[in-house]
Amino acid sequence: MKPTHIEHIGIAVRNLENAIALFERLLGTPCYAVEEVADQKVRTAFFMVGATKIELLEPTADESPIAKFIEKKGEGMHHLALAVADLPESLKELRDGGTQLIDTQPRSGAEGLQIAFLHPKSTNGVLIELCAGR
Ligand code: ZN
Repeated sequence: MKPTHIEHIGIAVRNLENAIALFERLLGTPCYAVEEVADQKVRTAFFMVGATKIELLEPTADESPIAKFIEKKGEGMHHLALAVADLPESLKELRDGGTQLIDTQPRSGAEGLQIAFLHPKSTNGVLIELCAGR
């Protein structure tokens, strides 16, 4: 696997509207997209920061992985997303190399991207998302 760049950094927030206002002030740039990802039970908001992005994630249900994360650890950095050219191939390569995967198959994420998460047990405690498709 050879990631091309850091696609985005995901931040878990309790209230998306408040967080959007805060990050618009902090980054000096408007949020360019708000999107609900039903599959992951989150609402997301995106900001461009140079060539990479910041993704805010608000849970839409108690059983959302983001709700569970906030309950355990509080708001804050949730994941690092790396862009790869070929997602299925990257997953196969990682699995063959002994990396534990949360998603063995790509699934649909925000912004029309195909995504998959690696298990933080295999990545020094960092939740890593791989994404492809843009
Ligand atoms: Zn993400």
